[in-house]
Amino acid sequence: MKFCFDLEMLIKDLCLNEEIKMSENKQEQKSNKEKRSVPLGVWNKCDNCHEILYAKELNQNKKVCAICGYHFKFDAWDRINLLIDHETFIEYDHEMTSADPIKFEDLKMYKDRIKSAMAKSGRKDAVITGEGKLSGLKLGLGVMDFSFLGGSMGSVVGEKLTRLIENSIKEKMPVIIVSTSGGARMQESMCSLMQMAKVSATLAKLSEARLPFISVLADPTTGGVSASFAMLGDINMAEPNALIAFAGPRVIEQTIRQKLPEGFQRTEFLKEHGMIDMIVERENMKHTLSRTLKILLNLNYSDGKGVKNAKN
Ligand SMILES: [Zn+2]
Repeated sequence: MKFCFDLEMLIKDLCLNEEIKMSENKQEQKSNKEKRSVPLGVWNKCDNCHEILYAKELNQNKKVCAICGYHFKFDAWDRINLLIDHETFIEYDHEMTSADPIKFEDLKMYKDRIKSAMAKSGRKDAVITGEGKLSGLKLGLGVMDFSFLGGSMGSVVGEKLTRLIENSIKEKMPVIIVSTSGGARMQESMCSLMQMAKVSATLAKLSEARLPFISVLADPTTGGVSASFAMLGDINMAEPNALIAFAGPRVIEQTIRQKLPEGFQRTEFLKEHGMIDMIVERENMKHTLSRTLKILLNLNYSDGKGVKNAKN
């Protein structure tokens, strides 16, 4: 999408703001470590700092470790509630379910896998789409759900996202897609691979309609999702320390027979190498998305910290 102002300068400015907020959060995490008392109740262990965390506190902290800032996987509905203003979300295509186009069977029949994933998650597939208001701004939102067959992209995910984008074009709304996925769903073979092209082509129409698309990448975003729409944002934001890759590090190490550098395929490494525009902590995600969209849409916006609204 073409903007009437310098997108690179805007991203630099937004990134500087995120870095200030992240350093403030780090200081707070340090003081949390110093004054932490022994919690009671149900426990969670942090995968990064291995500290024991009280589950209730972890949930209140939006599944972010209060000691080291590690971002745990986040439920799709929790993410929608975090981003969208209270009671403004309208879900699309809630009832859409996968067919079994090639009657796939490995250790289990694919249709049985789908049934058990539905029973376990209470959802019909690996993405929730709909429209809602983010800080008063109406937009189309798609949130992937890693707990449903590893957030894999089959024909339902592709179709729901395509309809979301098409409807957003019709309603003249910007689009945000939060990705967390193991990639294309192999049980649907070509039908899942086709979704990469289908969603990407619809995003091109969104761009032609001069509506912004922000891609948010959460841990992990891999395979066909990272190789298509997740990397096509006008701005690509990622949560800290998320694994973002096409093939995972183990496969690459085995192929090239070389040790990969530390932090390879993590958000910070990718930001340093220009694959990601911004690293945004979950705590700041709503504010940053709202601020960025309002600037991109040329709405009156200034927070007094230096980013001025672009002129016509
Ligand atoms: Zn931790």
